[in-house]
Amino acid sequence: MCGIVGYISNHCVKSDLIKGLKKLEYRGYDSVGIALFDVNQNIKVLKNSGQIKDFISKYKNDTSDGHLGIGHTRWATHGVPSDNNSHPIFDQNETIALVHNGIIENYLDIKKELIDEGFKFKTDTDTECISNLISYYKNKNKDTLRSIKLTFQKIKGHAVVAIISKEDPGKIFGFKKGLAGSLRIGLSSNKISIASDLETIKSTSEKYISIDNKEIFVATLEDVLVISKDKKIEKEWISIDEKSETISKNNFDFFIEKEIHEQPEVFLSNFQNRVNFSSKEIDFSKELKGLNLDEIKRINLFGMGTSYYACLLASYWLEQISKIPTQCHNASEFTYRNPLVEENTLAISVSQSGETADTLSAANLIKEMKIPQIAITNTNNSELEKVTKNCINIGAKTEIGVASTKTFTATLEIFLLFAMYLAQKRNPGYPKTKIFQELKSMPSQIERILDNTKHIVDLAKLYSKYDNFLFLGRGYNYPVAMEAALKLKELSYVHAEGYPAGEMKHGPISLIDSKMPVFCIITEGSHRDKMISNIREVKSRNGKVIVLTNCSEKLDKSWYDDIIIFEKTEDLLSPFLSSVSIQIFAVNLALARNLDIDKPRNLAKSVTVE
Ligand code: GLU
Repeated sequence: MCGIVGYISNHCVKSDLIKGLKKLEYRGYDSVGIALFDVNQNIKVLKNSGQIKDFISKYKNDTSDGHLGIGHTRWATHGVPSDNNSHPIFDQNETIALVHNGIIENYLDIKKELIDEGFKFKTDTDTECISNLISYYKNKNKDTLRSIKLTFQKIKGHAVVAIISKEDPGKIFGFKKGLAGSLRIGLSSNKISIASDLETIKSTSEKYISIDNKEIFVATLEDVLVISKDKKIEKEWISIDEKSETISKNNFDFFIEKEIHEQPEVFLSNFQNRVNFSSKEIDFSKELKGLNLDEIKRINLFGMGTSYYACLLASYWLEQISKIPTQCHNASEFTYRNPLVEENTLAISVSQSGETADTLSAANLIKEMKIPQIAITNTNNSELEKVTKNCINIGAKTEIGVASTKTFTATLEIFLLFAMYLAQKRNPGYPKTKIFQELKSMPSQIERILDNTKHIVDLAKLYSKYDNFLFLGRGYNYPVAMEAALKLKELSYVHAEGYPAGEMKHGPISLIDSKMPVFCIITEGSHRDKMISNIREVKSRNGKVIVLTNCSEKLDKSWYDDIIIFEKTEDLLSPFLSSVSIQIFAVNLALARNLDIDKPRNLAKSVTVE
């Protein structure tokens, strides 16, 4: 969600800004813009609503350029996506231009005060109160940095901001307040690079710092000054030695298709340094140094969206494999309900980006309660890790598709391994041999699904004309049903609901008719026979039943309309195979509806506002 870039160089930076913005595209956005300090020492703003390619074509004849500039991908929170509301946003005199990620909660009060002082507002954004407030203070004290500090103090809410000022050539100012994602500043011999993520600055920087909450910075080509509470801070520069991952679609038309196909490889690589198949042991001790798990009496899990459903499934595994009572929380609800958390609880917060604002809020609250916690993310040195201190990386590498696929299965894998790790002391009698054996073959089993997608693709085309779907499952298949419905909503804009199958008779059954396909996930496990009854109940009401199963031999053909079969496995491992099958279905249903499966409308990859 929303992204910031900025460059200072002894060369022109317009093309760097556009390249940087393209790298940030995956986060999700609705508008784009840049501000350049041009050769005449004027601030030139170019912006429009829509995609970067629209921006490039709109300005193809524009020759302006400069040695310093900032850029933004906006995900509108205040004011519709429009050219005018796009960032950078000027102050009323057009001497200060800034880009902002986040939400200013007291913007109406500030706007009213400034209007009373004679200020004019030209956009509907909350952001404009920041530029005008800086301008207001600057009219009084003439000092840009001091005005930014006063503005920082006055605003309430969440803001990561980069600012340029006509009277301060060669400088990019900025700050971070609250939860609005990351900001990194990279340094090389001839360039300062600023961006919302590390990936964007990697190719132009030798080392970098992260701007933390409540820090204000002033960057010039020679130096970066960072201030907190009016004191200069010595930041630790981290060298960038990792080779930049080459991000391409390979032979696929869309990133999400490539990412779905990467799942066997990700699954396999997550075994490394954690799973010993000979001794049947799991080890997380190196990743979780200094965390004593022996005293833990219960576990609380936190997530949003796909990460929440991963937590939901993990709560079954943690209770059944490691025998530790586990509760799963929607992070946005947890934070504001004055929650009670008992002593000896372990908290685990999940966010693929590591900067999900709702999850960060919950993690901060947990930190205040002095409860030990772990982050599970796909990002190194993330905001979430800074709060939790302990982190397990899911190793899925960059995921560009906005709807999570490989990050979902990788998160599940980490949870499963972690449950097995805890079980080594808590429940050594768990069916270790069987699980280890099946675990080993899981990458190949996933691969076989990916090599044989024709039947699922055909079904997706067949069902692409339906506008409503239900997904039902019991036990491990219930979280899978929830995630399946989410995938369908996200990718194909089709109305889809997931339910525990037992809930169906308590309401949703009234929706069932021949226009409502019902996906029933049924596997060879303790819930099988109850699920058969549910399937029969749907069919008896003329529902269109699609079964997704690994026990087709137990199902009579008259009970369903269509069937997707995956291989048999230990029941607790079946979600990996059912989930991958559903990803293929959802992607192909969206393709049959002619949709952009990499960038579904309105969605953001990194949800940095609450
Ligand atoms: N709240 C600001 C706006 O709506 C910033 C949104 C964003 O984070 O992109 O313009």
